[in-house]
Amino acid sequence: MPPLSDQLRRRIDAVEERIRAACDRAGRPRSSVTLVAVTKTAPEPVLPLLPALGLTHLAESRPQQLWRRAPLAPASWHLVGHLQRNKVERTLPLVALIHSVDSDRLLRALEAEAAKQSRRADVLLEVKTTAEESKLGLSADEVRALVPGLEELQHVRVSGLMTMAPLEEPERCRESFAALRRLREELRSRIQGHDLVELSMGMSNDFEIAIEEGATLVRVGSALFEGLGDS
Ligand SMILES: *Cc1c(COP(=O)(O)O)cnc(C)c1O
Repeated sequence: MPPLSDQLRRRIDAVEERIRAACDRAGRPRSSVTLVAVTKTAPEPVLPLLPALGLTHLAESRPQQLWRRAPLAPASWHLVGHLQRNKVERTLPLVALIHSVDSDRLLRALEAEAAKQSRRADVLLEVKTTAEESKLGLSADEVRALVPGLEELQHVRVSGLMTMAPLEEPERCRESFAALRRLREELRSRIQGHDLVELSMGMSNDFEIAIEEGATLVRVGSALFEGLGDS
C-alpha cells in the first residue's frame, strides 16, 4: 500500500480534475468554486497533512468532532451539520463559516454569542429544497420570513445559502440546486447589509451538477477520504 500522502494526493487530483471539468462545461473560472473537504470520515492522522496538500478549507458535520479536530490542522474550518444552541459558544471561535443555520433561534443565539465574543459570525442559511420530511433546514417561505429581521443583526453576516440534495435521486439534484440559486437571486435585492454571494451545494456524488448550477462552495467528503489507508 502506498503511503497515505500519495493516496491522498491522487484522491485530491481526481476531485480537482472533476471540479475543473465541471467549471469548463459551465464556462466558470476554477477560482469561482471553493473545495471544502469534509473530514468526518478521514482518519485523524491524515488531518495535519491536508493544508500542505492544498486542502485549506476543512469541515466537520458534528460540533464536538470539530472541537477535537480543528486544532489538528491549521486551515479555515467550516461547520456543515446541525449546531445546537448550547454548542455555539465553543464552536464560534473555531470556524470561518457555519453552513447550517436552520432556525431563527439559532441565528439569534449566534448574534448574542458573537456580540459577547466581539467577533463576526459568517453563516449560511440551510434551505430545504425538497419535500423530504427528514431533511433539516428552513423552507423557502421560512427563509423569506427571516429576511426583514436580518437587518438588525450586528455581528452575524449571512453570506449565502446551503442545501442538501436528495441523496437517493441524483436526477433530482439539479432541480434542488437550481431552486437554491433562484431563491438567492430573489432574496439578494431584498436583503440589506448582507451579501448573499455563496451557494453551498454539491457533495461527492453530485458536485459537478452543483457547479453547473452555480455552486461557490462544494462539500466533498467520501471522494477524498472514504477507505483511505485501507489495503
Ligand atoms: C458528510 C457531509 C458532506 C460530504 O458528503 P460526501 O457524500 O461524503 O461527499 C457534505 N455536507 C454535509 C452536510 C455532510 O454532512
